[in-house]
Amino acid sequence: MGFDFLQDKDRIFTNVYGYQDWGLKAAKKRGDWDKTKNLIKLGNEKIIEEVKASGLRGRGGAGFPTGLKWSFMPKEAPKDRDGNPRPSFLVINADESEPGSCKDREIIRHDPHKLIEGALIAGFAMKARAAYIYIRGEYIREAETLFTAVEEAYEAGLLGKNACKSGYDFDVFVHRGAGAYICGEETAMIESLEGKKGQPRLKPPFPAGAGLYGCPTTVNNVESIAVVPTILRRGASWFSSFGREGNHGTKLFQVSGHVDRPAVFEEAMSIPFKDMIEKHCGGITGGWDNLLAVIPGGSSVPLVPAEQIMDAPMDFDGLKEVGSGLGTAAVIVMDKSTDIVQAISRLSYFYKHESCGQCTPCREGTGWMWRVMEKMRDGNAEIEDIDTLYEVTKQVEGHTICALGDAAAWPIQGLIRHFRPEMERRINERKGADVMEAAE
Ligand code: SF4
Repeated sequence: MGFDFLQDKDRIFTNVYGYQDWGLKAAKKRGDWDKTKNLIKLGNEKIIEEVKASGLRGRGGAGFPTGLKWSFMPKEAPKDRDGNPRPSFLVINADESEPGSCKDREIIRHDPHKLIEGALIAGFAMKARAAYIYIRGEYIREAETLFTAVEEAYEAGLLGKNACKSGYDFDVFVHRGAGAYICGEETAMIESLEGKKGQPRLKPPFPAGAGLYGCPTTVNNVESIAVVPTILRRGASWFSSFGREGNHGTKLFQVSGHVDRPAVFEEAMSIPFKDMIEKHCGGITGGWDNLLAVIPGGSSVPLVPAEQIMDAPMDFDGLKEVGSGLGTAAVIVMDKSTDIVQAISRLSYFYKHESCGQCTPCREGTGWMWRVMEKMRDGNAEIEDIDTLYEVTKQVEGHTICALGDAAAWPIQGLIRHFRPEMERRINERKGADVMEAAE
């Protein structure tokens, strides 16, 4: 039986290509801000229950159930030392910097009111006082759009005091980052918002207990928040009707690399890889036999070789089963013209560059791994160095404060797992060339 592709009537992001205006008037025509007060009237607990029932999992990479995350926020405001209630906050992660990822950018460019309405509803559900949207520094035009859209919402009485005439006061602040990848990590983002150097915090305490300014905080991805109003309007069962058990909903996929038409599009979760590429991207450059490997979830997940990815369902569990992950659903396709060792080496350089330097395995390990990867690229190594490199990735993985250490280790592990013969071939070829040279 073929896959049931997402139909137009079920699309959440109906302006993802910007064919229509992004402003408030046009957004309202598309259904945004429609009786938002009634959604708020559902009450905090009901909203959280609906989001839980929808099966929505975080769209920023980790895939943690969104409703469950919200339920960790305190039901009653904690008190400070003087007995005054402390506020709670929602932080929206728009620091989209993972190589390959470019979906939040499209939401902010073309559908910012979905995000802002979602911020109000999610903030209300968690009894938050305000939302901070932390947007990547390089997203200059997107930030301008967001500032204007937030202003429009204030002017229309949708935000601020008595937002949407609901009796609930809620503010939204837009904060521009300064170009550090690590600020996409939730606690580094909180540090950065507080005006400090963007370095991840040790957990616990978790942000739901002590986050922004020491107050309860939830950090969610842009897409996770932007889909919430539609889930509430159309019902949890509608959203959960897409995708396999534990992997429900629709998703913005971003396909780049060696396909005929790279694209960002919304599709039902669990779509098989081959069907997805055929329908939305016009196939692989040079045909399917020319496919080498795919990085299915942004640069931090291990690559999957062609024969294993073909029928894989594009969801959290399906990609885990092939030793990788859905991540942000940023699919990087590589055909046989790719120098795979060079490609992974370049990613190693990225992680080395973006390490915040707090923990030794990451600070030293990312640089070491990159230098060895450069040698592997040139074949300028010994066969045993491959094992040493693998061993070092294992020493970095899981031994650091934040997940950047893992993100630097996994692409190399994927390379060794699937392309070890290619790495050995380069070393042997290089050695052969050296012998020839010496003999001449
Ligand atoms: Fe910083 Fe790397 Fe440690 Fe994360 S793992 S805190 S980026 S040094």
